[in-house]
Amino acid sequence: MAAEFKLAGVMGWPIAQSRSPILHNYWIEKYNLSGRYVPLAVRSERLADAIRGLPALGFRGCNLTMPHKQLAMTMVDEVTDTAKRIGAINCIVVGDDGRMSGTNNDGNGYVLSVQEVAPQWKPSDGPIAILGAGGAARAIIVALVERGARDLRLINRTFEKAERLAKEFSPNVKPITWDKRSEAIGDVVLLVNATDQGMIGKPALDISLDRLSKQTLVSDLIYVPPETSFLAAAKARGNVTINGLGMLLHQARPAFEAWFGVLPEITPDLRKRIMDTFKT
Ligand code: NAP
Repeated sequence: MAAEFKLAGVMGWPIAQSRSPILHNYWIEKYNLSGRYVPLAVRSERLADAIRGLPALGFRGCNLTMPHKQLAMTMVDEVTDTAKRIGAINCIVVGDDGRMSGTNNDGNGYVLSVQEVAPQWKPSDGPIAILGAGGAARAIIVALVERGARDLRLINRTFEKAERLAKEFSPNVKPITWDKRSEAIGDVVLLVNATDQGMIGKPALDISLDRLSKQTLVSDLIYVPPETSFLAAAKARGNVTINGLGMLLHQARPAFEAWFGVLPEITPDLRKRIMDTFKT
């Protein structure tokens, strides 16, 4: 008898930019599985119908991307505590009974991407500075605090947003004004760019690294381009740098396992395959 054909996908609007189909279909082929991961172009006003249809269509689940991560949380049967803290889901798993559970692997994926490059690093090792206070910063803060981080400096252009998050995650997160960004990073163990500055088509992140210790791990959630000018400047000073591709890949692994039953490997060939899709 043929193996059961398993379906999963990613819902977003627009969706053509998502690399998740390339990533998951690469693993489906590599592990010789019977299934497909498809892009699902879903407008916000049809999101409830689309999610409700997943079990009926035989989907094992799906990822959620912009702009659905928050709204989708209200449309599933259960949500993990981590996803509740983040306030968004990026993954739905459909159980054998048709019940849908929502998870968020973004923050966990981020921590694993740093540990892949610096295996000895732990979130509790010392101060961490995060630039940006949007959805991605929030996922990272939750993951870092859950893993023992007690000194997070949240530096955001709009100070009120940093203040709100700091209040919510008190006493582990301290808000810092944008004009203090270059001074506030001198002694941190990890520095993260969670703004969109430096992304292709956007201006470079405006920060001086002069005070930064050479031991500081420097990470950027951006992976297009693979090395932002922020990471290039850190590397030139001798800092270890980490781009955002690892976060994308590591958040995908547990989702793939939940849908397709195999915990897939991240290989140099897979990284190259994804990055090649950005070449013109
Ligand atoms: P978001 O919610 O829109 O937040 C954007 C952040 O960038 C805000 O803190 C915003 O500050 C800041 N910002 C925008 N323009 C700025 C400027 N000119 N100067 C200083 N700060 C500025 O976006 P997000 O979803 O958190 O995503 C943030 C970044 O993470 C993006 O580059 C995204 O591609 C990346 N990301 C990567 C992954 C991955 O898997 N690697 C996953 C998710 C996101 P204000 O509050 O002042 O507006």
